[in-house]
Amino acid sequence: MDTWRPDREPTDVSEGRASDRADRLEPDAALVAARIGQVRARIAAAESAAGRPVGQVRLLLATKTQPARVVRAAVLADAAARDAGAPGGPALVGENRVQELVAKGPVLAELGVPAHLIGPLQRNKVVQAVRWAACVQTVDSLALAERLAARTTTHPLAVMVQVNVSGEATKHGVPPAEAVDLACAVAALPGLDLRGLMTIGAHSDDRRTVRTGFALLRRLRDAVRDSGGPGTDRADQLSMGMSADLEDAVAEGATLVRVGSAVFGRRS
Ligand SMILES: *Cc1c(COP(=O)(O)O)cnc(C)c1O
Repeated sequence: MDTWRPDREPTDVSEGRASDRADRLEPDAALVAARIGQVRARIAAAESAAGRPVGQVRLLLATKTQPARVVRAAVLADAAARDAGAPGGPALVGENRVQELVAKGPVLAELGVPAHLIGPLQRNKVVQAVRWAACVQTVDSLALAERLAARTTTHPLAVMVQVNVSGEATKHGVPPAEAVDLACAVAALPGLDLRGLMTIGAHSDDRRTVRTGFALLRRLRDAVRDSGGPGTDRADQLSMGMSADLEDAVAEGATLVRVGSAVFGRRS
């Protein structure tokens, strides 16, 4: 199975300090391919267990700190697996930092893979985010939404509103009590296409706590759509679930799970 291996010289887009780079473990392409298969099997099993049709939850590869050649190998491995009959749509890629989005953007564009921004967006990076992100999942204020809207040109930018369902101080996102109002205001902005809500699950060993947070995000998404406000009808996405908790997220209705370490290994 050599066909999906990178066939050209890698573009090194690592941007960390030299010391970060030195101790980073770069996963082997065959290992990445095997792990993608395992993650897709977990997603399918969770869909079945929840009585959902198999193959509808979208896999987003969270590729922070991975060099472009590894991202490329992962995308090609995923395409090969789907060609061989694995269920599910093509994987998306998510980056946490705009710098990495810009650096890997040309490779992803060549592969035809939509890149989402899944980390916090600073005001001075808005122009680059609009240029390179197919979707900004981390809108958490109307001010940020307005800055993004003002920079869109040819077509509306897909966005999600990030909600801090756990209330943990270390997490970004709008508080649940403000989420519906913010999402409706964002949906009404010309230039933005509100596609749904995103959250990072509670940092807890108690699965009930994690799952309650995902259920809350689903109810907030439903409330946004039920509001009937302008632009809310397309807000059907729930971006929730990561390597450790994707089963609970799928059980609560995730439409997109963001997976990093289960594919690329632990980050150093
Ligand atoms: C890193 C990251 C992920 C993936 O997390 P893993 O636990 O490595 O699967 C998902 N979402 C966001 C926002 C992330 O930063």
